[in-house]
Amino acid sequence: MSSNEFKGVMVFSENFEILLELLGKGRELADKLQVELSAVLMGHNIDEERGKDLIKHGADKVYIVDNPILEQFNAEPYADVLSKIASEYKPEIILIGATKRGKELAPRVATKLNTGCMTECTKLDIDEERRLVVTRLVYGGSSIATEYSRVKPQIATVSPHTFEKLAPEERKGEIVKFEVEVKEPRTKVVERKKKEIVGERLEEASVIVAGGRGIRSKEDFKLLEELAKVLNGQVGCTRPIAADYGWFTNWIGISGVKIKPKLYIAVGISGAIQHTAGIMDSKIIVAINKDEEAPIFKAADYGIVGDLYKIVPALTEAFKKLLK
Ligand SMILES: Cc1cc2nc3c(=O)[nH]c(=O)nc-3n(C[C@H](O)[C@H](O)[C@H](O)COP(=O)(O)OP(=O)(O)OC[C@H]3O[C@@H](n4cnc5c(N)ncnc54)[C@H](O)[C@@H]3O)c2cc1C
Repeated sequence: MSSNEFKGVMVFSENFEILLELLGKGRELADKLQVELSAVLMGHNIDEERGKDLIKHGADKVYIVDNPILEQFNAEPYADVLSKIASEYKPEIILIGATKRGKELAPRVATKLNTGCMTECTKLDIDEERRLVVTRLVYGGSSIATEYSRVKPQIATVSPHTFEKLAPEERKGEIVKFEVEVKEPRTKVVERKKKEIVGERLEEASVIVAGGRGIRSKEDFKLLEELAKVLNGQVGCTRPIAADYGWFTNWIGISGVKIKPKLYIAVGISGAIQHTAGIMDSKIIVAINKDEEAPIFKAADYGIVGDLYKIVPALTEAFKKLLK
């Protein structure tokens, strides 16, 4: 197939909020290329209002696939359906939300469409040859790669909260019910358990106080909780605290949650590149570390050199007085 036969930008995420974010960026790319922007909705008993919402947030077309097999996400039928829609309408660009599920889905879709897949892109643009050019972190976040795909469709996955959704407005668009045979997946989910999430999701928090290996015990995280409480924020941590010590279920960084709070306070965190790659979208970064050479100070807007066990309680007291 000649690459000229591909036209349009298509976006998909099983997470509706992220789908709206993809539409925000997709709109910009589609306008640059002067092509149509479409969104795909998959599920069962889908409320058509959702399709209308997608149009309000920038979609020209919404393809809806409604089938009981699609009620819960399963990469196999989802990849099958998305690749069938793409084969029929031939978008030149497909953006997929890089959620855990999206990461399972995108390479499968790429394989079915015999194309490549650029993963967890943080910047997307169109070059003078009308190609999608992306940048993404590589080698554990220590380098940034700029890439484009030599084949179409050009598939890119985009990390959640990388782009903003557009403000909704009344726009014209079309909702298309895409009829397709959906095959039962070869795997069956036998049990689902809800994951315990403490407090608000870190991705959405506007203030985060995070601790690293400078904190000696799980109990000592109480100091951070008290500071976070006064600032109406959440507590987070580095990977070793969660993955090695098991004190928390998730962590901040390139292999964990990427955050963009208004205020990020890093306590007893050295500032390894894998950690700082996940905090760079924070508006203000404050670091507290006893080692004045700690790399975290390079990423920080404000640095306090000293013992966290003295500084954190003093800050909590000061904020308590200030915010009374
Ligand atoms: C492939 C890969 C992916 C990774 N992904 C991530 C990721 O997503 N997120 C992540 O966080 N890490 C990640 N890591 C791990 C990362 O490389 C670092 O090992 C980790 O971030 C270090 O955690 P830390 O800052 O808590 O600990 P340390 O590096 O041990 O730093 C502890 C800091 O506390 C300070 N300190 C000690 N006592 C005090 C005190 N009393 N007062 C003040 N300061 C004190 C020390 O000076 C030191 O700077 C990844 C690693 C790999 C290989």
